[in-house]
Amino acid sequence: MKDTLKHQGLRNQLAKLISEMGITDKNVLNALSKIPRHLFLDSSFEDFAYKNQAFPILADQTISHPYTVAFQSQLLEIKRGDKVLEIGTGSGYQTAVLMELGAEVYTIERQNELFKKTKLFLPKLGYWPKYVGFGDGYKGLPNYAPFDKIIVTAGAPFVPKPLLAQIKIGGTLVIPVGEETQIMHMYKRTGMKSFEKHELGEFKFVPLLEKKN
Ligand code: SAH
Repeated sequence: MKDTLKHQGLRNQLAKLISEMGITDKNVLNALSKIPRHLFLDSSFEDFAYKNQAFPILADQTISHPYTVAFQSQLLEIKRGDKVLEIGTGSGYQTAVLMELGAEVYTIERQNELFKKTKLFLPKLGYWPKYVGFGDGYKGLPNYAPFDKIIVTAGAPFVPKPLLAQIKIGGTLVIPVGEETQIMHMYKRTGMKSFEKHELGEFKFVPLLEKKN
């Protein structure tokens, strides 16, 4: 696990590119220039780690585009100490971004091998999420609910009701909704039964799948 000045230079360029693409949240940009994304990828992709691309990780899954990670993170408006649920741990890169923003992260992944790998990997970089579990994103994490923010990092065919139920009043859910391509949705919970819904452009994610054991 090596991190060099060259990697740092590439990260700074990546953060600059993402800012030119319209991300304005300085804390998000700082997180991108700080986190060694190349270590989240297979070493054969190392040279590409700081391009704005998605890459394969284990179990046919992908690490999301840096722009997508930044876009979702910015929407969440994380404040230090926010309790955040992430659906789709994957490589753990988005988890690391949330933690750099000061969130207390609970994250679940339905691919067992990815879950096991990432649970061991994040602490090696100094990231200790509150909870890393093998679970089904359609159900959320009822035992730890409610959350200030929930982020879904896979394309959901519909908005799972349990996720809406697990946001605090005043909290936010960010979720890409759709089958082939997805529209980024943001739900703000305004009361026990009321939500404000915003649609924020088209993205492409791997699908949110039913739980597999
Ligand atoms: N946040 C990740 C993105 C990974 S891609 C990263 O930064 O690398 C989306 C992830 O969601 C994949 O790892 C996939 O296995 C996982 N996933 C798909 N369906 C899921 C479900 N129902 N519950 C939890 N995780 C799921």
